[in-house]
Amino acid sequence: FANKLQQTLSNVSKLQVFGDKDFQKALNNVRMALIDADANVKIVDDLISKVETNMKTAKIPRGVTKTQMFVKLVHDGLVDILGNKGTAERILSPAQQQRRFMFVGLQGSGKTTTIAKFAKLTLKKFPKTKILLVACDTRRPAAIEQLDILGKRVNCETFCAEEGADAVRVLEKALEYSVEQKFDYVFVDTAGRQVIDNDLMQELGRLEKIAKPDETLLVLDAMTGQEAANVAKKFAETVHVSGAVLTKLDSDTRGGAALSLSTISGCRIGFMGTSEDLDGLEPFYPDRIASRILGMGDIVTLVEKAQENVSEEEAKEMAKRMMEAKFTFEDFLKQLSFVSSMGSVGNMLKMIPGVGNKINSEEISKMEKKLKVAKVIIQSMTKEEKKNPDVFYKDATSKTRIERIRKGSGRSQEEIDDFFKTFKAAQAAMKKLGAFAKKNGNVETSE
Ligand code: GDP
Ligand code: MG
Repeated sequence: FANKLQQTLSNVSKLQVFGDKDFQKALNNVRMALIDADANVKIVDDLISKVETNMKTAKIPRGVTKTQMFVKLVHDGLVDILGNKGTAERILSPAQQQRRFMFVGLQGSGKTTTIAKFAKLTLKKFPKTKILLVACDTRRPAAIEQLDILGKRVNCETFCAEEGADAVRVLEKALEYSVEQKFDYVFVDTAGRQVIDNDLMQELGRLEKIAKPDETLLVLDAMTGQEAANVAKKFAETVHVSGAVLTKLDSDTRGGAALSLSTISGCRIGFMGTSEDLDGLEPFYPDRIASRILGMGDIVTLVEKAQENVSEEEAKEMAKRMMEAKFTFEDFLKQLSFVSSMGSVGNMLKMIPGVGNKINSEEISKMEKKLKVAKVIIQSMTKEEKKNPDVFYKDATSKTRIERIRKGSGRSQEEIDDFFKTFKAAQAAMKKLGAFAKKNGNVETSE
């Protein structure tokens, strides 16, 4: 399916013109490709309508064509679908009390390997923890030995049973032991089959009841493509799958499995296997996989760069306006409206290098309130007053003017005083900033 999607987008990106008809056709093709992949129809339709609106409203940066923008919007939609916010962090969190994980999945999906990788990753993150691996795959010859060997490689103890022993009994004994020995984590390996059968499922159900795992992780082979989603559905009928690990993403699969899987509600991919090596386990990054699925990483990067440039340009433009302003109340008001059109003061300040990270949200919300008040006060001024702030400071009429404005704006004396004080300070700051910028040649001013 990934090929179908890639084909569609590759055709789109070659178009010289991208008219309304082309756009609708492209949307429809993307939709069909996703639905053919067994992706959930509702989720696909959400994605399509989002792309449709965003295409109409998004600002297309200079140097970017409509078709490239389209590819980028589809990419963003996929990232949304693949979204797994917080899943990896939750799974790999510290053990306040014993944390138990059960790993389930088909035979050969990579459960045993993933357990060793997980143990290694956990020890790296929490160096002093004790991890017990439990070999509950008593069915497959040599499965116990395999876990034992891998366990030794990552310096973890493995609770081994005899081949053919009852998995449920093994688990009970292992849990007892783990509590006695105060293990922080218990990772339970389970048996898989080539295909799902009832026998296996019943055993998993019983194991889960006994282990009461904090996480039941479904290990899926990415190379099986969309089939992974069907497997996930089946497992979710019996055990409480809390997250998925997609293995073998290092091979040349295009991530179709990830997408089909993610459209099944509740199955969030936390980690991905990226090699046979025991270091080959990483948190799952939706944006990387989305690029892989589309096969258009270049276009996506290009649009992202252009978008960054736009916000940089906007910030520069704004700085220029700020400094050019002679700082009358009129300019101040213009700026205030500009600020509110930008969304929030917080966003604006964040764009000014070196300022953004020093400002906390409490200060920002205080400031936003102040700005609202300022707007009302300025609106109560006459045209002349807006142009000549000095009349409030030097003119003999200043007292009566201020009094009139206080009444007109319905603000308290305190707010009025605060406003004039702030304005004065802002005026001074602007002058300094303007002089500084001119000296350093950052911003061209018309003066
Ligand atoms: P299990 O039957 O589910 O326990 O699967 P195993 O852990 O025994 O793994 C089956 C095979 O897949 C082994 O040869 C592993 O080395 C291999 N494998 C597991 N995870 C990955 C991965 O992320 N990348 C690659 N390339 N191979 C993997
Ligand atoms: Mg195994």
